[in-house]
Amino acid sequence: MENIIKDIDIISAEEAQACDYKTTEDENTGKSKKLYIESYGCQMNFSDSEIVASIMKENGFDTTSDFEQADVIFLNTCSIREKAELTVRKRLSQFNAIKRNKPEMTIGVLGCMAERLKEKLLEEEQIVDVVVGPDAYRDLPNLVATAEDGNKGVNTFLSREETYADISPVRLNSNGVSAFISIMRGCDNMCSFCVVPFTRGRERSRDPHSIVREAQDLFDKGFKEVTLLGQNVDSYKWSPEENNKARLNKKEGEVTEVVNFANLLEMVALISPQLRVRFSTSHPKDITDEVLYTMKKYDNICKYIHLPVQSGNSRILELMNRTYDREWYLERVAKIREILGEECGISSDMIAGFCTETEEEHQETLTMMDIVKYDFSYMFYYSERPGTLAAKKYKDDIPLDVKKRRLNEIIDKQNKLSEERNKLDIGKVQEILIEGESKRSNEQLKGRNSANKVVIIDKGNFKKGDYVTVKITDCTPATLFGEIVS
Ligand code: SAM
Ligand code: SF4
Repeated sequence: MENIIKDIDIISAEEAQACDYKTTEDENTGKSKKLYIESYGCQMNFSDSEIVASIMKENGFDTTSDFEQADVIFLNTCSIREKAELTVRKRLSQFNAIKRNKPEMTIGVLGCMAERLKEKLLEEEQIVDVVVGPDAYRDLPNLVATAEDGNKGVNTFLSREETYADISPVRLNSNGVSAFISIMRGCDNMCSFCVVPFTRGRERSRDPHSIVREAQDLFDKGFKEVTLLGQNVDSYKWSPEENNKARLNKKEGEVTEVVNFANLLEMVALISPQLRVRFSTSHPKDITDEVLYTMKKYDNICKYIHLPVQSGNSRILELMNRTYDREWYLERVAKIREILGEECGISSDMIAGFCTETEEEHQETLTMMDIVKYDFSYMFYYSERPGTLAAKKYKDDIPLDVKKRRLNEIIDKQNKLSEERNKLDIGKVQEILIEGESKRSNEQLKGRNSANKVVIIDKGNFKKGDYVTVKITDCTPATLFGEIVS
């Protein structure tokens, strides 16, 4: 699957706030009904759509890429920023016309926006038949059947245990080379700007044996790369007796075995040296030296860490309730460099214009970027979300034009740093994994190096899924270009 979220090809503040989406592809296994899913937002959401497709497949649905042919349309939504929700509402209004011609069609809103708005969504959006939160996907076939009988349905129950560990996801938009594996759900952090703890519930870790089985199965099917996904992967903690992090911490002395994230990484890396392992997202307060040493120990664990800083200023970080400060973050980066070297890719998320942020504090985000030298970042301006701690406690007092200007300064800085970092690769010999043809030319292939950078090479005799040794010859801020060495 392609990396879904735009990297540093973001060029303006407006574009940085834009919301990408993916749809299902055509499938024909002779099932009588057709399902179309559009997924918005983060990789976790795309991964959830693969679970939803699997549940629906078991209940007689094939996927389609054409929503006009669908019997059921699901929008798997994101609530992170207001813009994401507005995009979904606009999309619903576009589906209105189709539903008018095909009233028997069922329209469902799934995911974070469903969880946040619950029954209110049915009142506000008349065309919606079912509203289902992230922990209630097993109930979808029932709710769709109820909707087909003319009754609307809502299930936004948040579970303390659900991890969908037993469900084998249907791979959507797959390139057949790389796949995402969800290793945990929910989040126990309470970053004051963030809606996730309210929409995705408490943190639960999935049985590591089911994760290894899923990765092994992907490898057996020819996949060469898995990305382990969670809101805070370094906090992964599982025992046979308890998978809920908060309850597990209370029972620590009573459980027989505890698997932490470093242990899990090792278990997956051991499947085969030919299977690359990536992970996202790392929280600066939780990433341990043990994880860094495990990364160093295995060549097939990619040397790339997504370590969102959000702000470079300690006062703002405290208001954000990130539970680390500038010094702590810089110490973690120094440790990454010490253990994994300069070549390890580091990326970040940034929020411009959080409540009360001064110009000097914004400057500290820019100097943080200069010190760390991020390879790329996902960059946003602050968007107040109802119900969050920040919405309750702080005034959203930075004017929009100031937020956008600060965001553009962050984006400009990132573009320069990305180019600077990419230039350091010129002349180096690296191994890349080929993901498919380059978008620009079918005579060229697109691969990815360990640090998660896209590398374009001439096709030669290589194909998707091959590991190729290349020498980097040129770059732009977003892309490396290489020539084949072997
Ligand atoms: N769990 C990840 C972490 O803590 O780094 C992040 C998950 S969140 C889905 C992705 C990013 O969205 C965050 O890192 C943050 O930069 C951004 N974000 C979250 N809430 C936001 C808000 N209210 N306004 C602007 N950006 C926000
Ligand atoms: Fe949101 Fe913070 Fe949890 Fe990330 S760690 S999902 S930003 S609450």
